[in-house]
Amino acid sequence: MSDVTQLIHEYLRHNKKFPHVFCPGCGHGIVLGSLIRSVHSLNLSKDDVVIVAGIGCSGRMAVYVDFNTVHTTHGRALTFATGIKMANPALKVICVMGDGDAMSIGGNHLIHAARRNIGITTLILNNFIYGMTGGQCSSATPHGDLSMTTPYGSLEPSFDIVEMAQAAGANYVARGTTFHANLLDRLITGALQSPGFSVVEALSPCPTQYGRKNKFRSAVDMYQWLKKNTVKLEAIESGKAPKSDPRIPIGLFRDRKLDGLEEKYAALKTKLMDGAR
Ligand code: SF4
Ligand code: MG
Repeated sequence: MSDVTQLIHEYLRHNKKFPHVFCPGCGHGIVLGSLIRSVHSLNLSKDDVVIVAGIGCSGRMAVYVDFNTVHTTHGRALTFATGIKMANPALKVICVMGDGDAMSIGGNHLIHAARRNIGITTLILNNFIYGMTGGQCSSATPHGDLSMTTPYGSLEPSFDIVEMAQAAGANYVARGTTFHANLLDRLITGALQSPGFSVVEALSPCPTQYGRKNKFRSAVDMYQWLKKNTVKLEAIESGKAPKSDPRIPIGLFRDRKLDGLEEKYAALKTKLMDGAR
């Protein structure tokens, strides 16, 4: 047992809980739980799993798992993940990013990773704000909402991550929330099994930066909001909810089985090698 492992065991023996950086009520721990359950349910060897995280509160998730982990620069997690996947396609590469990371600073990388349909699973923890860096407006902050940089309400429309990922070419596109943890487990498990590029957006409350500024009284209020303001895609598809339902749809939006970039690259390599013999 290493010194660090020994220290952690010692801490857990006395304190029963693992220390973490997330604020009380933050949704990120729930997403982390879903991710761990999904990896476990698929019997993946932790040596074959790589978590590539960006900068931000969501980026801290990589610290709490005993997989291969890389904590990268702001917005660039997908570029590191692309290199890892192309170098060793056998690895299960999972990118964890916040909305500011994935959609604003790293938006260009997200579009092109989806276009290439490379075999990476991307979790985008959308808390509608830059949490760690002080509560600035991101491209996912809803129109009219308050942030440190939009004290009179954001004048910009927000990006729809699901629409964008589908338009750019991702094989698997889903949206869940931290209120619907079972659904989130299923969506992440599906993403990990999908070939090509998979994206799961997880709406994850940030009571500290977004909640306080937008007059939520508590984290519980934010989870109630998620319950009230989302609708399952199945309900719309089965006619239980109207097609024009104004709530945010959650569920699996696309599930294609097209080959990922790394599979096409391997096939090309075999073809060229065969031709050279
Ligand atoms: Fe979570 Fe927001 Fe706190 Fe970051 S600032 S840990 S996103 S509640
Ligand atoms: Mg954020």
